[in-house]
Amino acid sequence: MTDTRTNYRDLRLYTGDTGPCAIDLSDNTNLWGTPPAVEAALASAAGRGMRGYPEPYSESLKAAIAEYTGVQPTRVVTGAGSDDILDCAFRALAEPGDRVACIAPTFVMAPTFATTNGLVPVPVPLTSRYDADVGALLAANARIIYLCSPNNPTSTPLSRNAIETIVERSPGYVIVDEAYVDFASDSVIDLLDHAPRLVIARTFSKAFGLAGLRVGYALASSAAATEMEKARGPYKVGAVGALAARVAIVEDIAWVRARAAEAIAARESLRDELLGRGIVTPPSAANFVFAPIAGAVRIAANMKTLGVAVRAFAGLPRIDALLDASGGEALRITVGPPDVMARALAVFDEVRA
Ligand SMILES: *Cc1c(COP(=O)(O)O)cnc(C)c1O
Repeated sequence: MTDTRTNYRDLRLYTGDTGPCAIDLSDNTNLWGTPPAVEAALASAAGRGMRGYPEPYSESLKAAIAEYTGVQPTRVVTGAGSDDILDCAFRALAEPGDRVACIAPTFVMAPTFATTNGLVPVPVPLTSRYDADVGALLAANARIIYLCSPNNPTSTPLSRNAIETIVERSPGYVIVDEAYVDFASDSVIDLLDHAPRLVIARTFSKAFGLAGLRVGYALASSAAATEMEKARGPYKVGAVGALAARVAIVEDIAWVRARAAEAIAARESLRDELLGRGIVTPPSAANFVFAPIAGAVRIAANMKTLGVAVRAFAGLPRIDALLDASGGEALRITVGPPDVMARALAVFDEVRA
């Protein structure tokens, strides 16, 4: 085949974890469900007809996000999930051939979208304390630096100091992916006013329980936001998704926050349970736990046959003693309600027995 784009040939389609599973702890979605006010709004939207186009750039949703975040609506970009946000940011903020420095390990789609947009991803391993290697990221000669905090899959937040220094010193754009910010104690949203090249990416797929509707957003300078919208194109967020996201923020933010608090309690209890089994996990600021453990791939496969899906990683950079001891293997386990976690732990124990 010579008639397709050459830099796509080595990419593979995203598979996630194949097939449904009784208990799915593999994708960090909200295991408590969808906000009740959203369910009600979706039910009444069903009778309304969908013949017309949605707002081209989700103006009503942007207004709600602006109110929620305290960032002006001209600085908000929406997208079909934050995947779409990363995709259009890479397209709008760099030229083909430019480098994108990404912390490693991190969200697999970041280097993938860099590649699909003709950019060159440069992985920069985290330090042994799971922080961004500021010197190495700045030295990577990158047009864009991609950070993720709290980071997927390691669950750890980057230090405020590292992010601030990178934002201050980087000559190019810095994307901070805050997909899990609702479970963390800190956001870098306050840096936006003094950092015209900072882009913060967020999503309704995790804490907000709306992964099926594909809605995400970015906060940036007005100039960058406009360029990202040009790159993104109109009508990317459907009317139903935009409605659901707006209702979640405006009518049910208390539900979202209460479930996030439960997720935080659940992750601490899961870390304790694992520690009781001799498995040390790095501190989590997300709705999942990262457990470096030898044989993680086999454990996950065996758990799957017993109805519990968790995500396994292999070949991770051995940045600390835990990942060194596990040979670069780890499990990433989404947390949910107590009954779900009890079942997952029972299956974990069964598989390891
Ligand atoms: C899940 C996830 C996303 C993607 O979310 P969508 O909004 O569903 O596209 C982005 N970044 C990170 C770090 C994630 O874990």
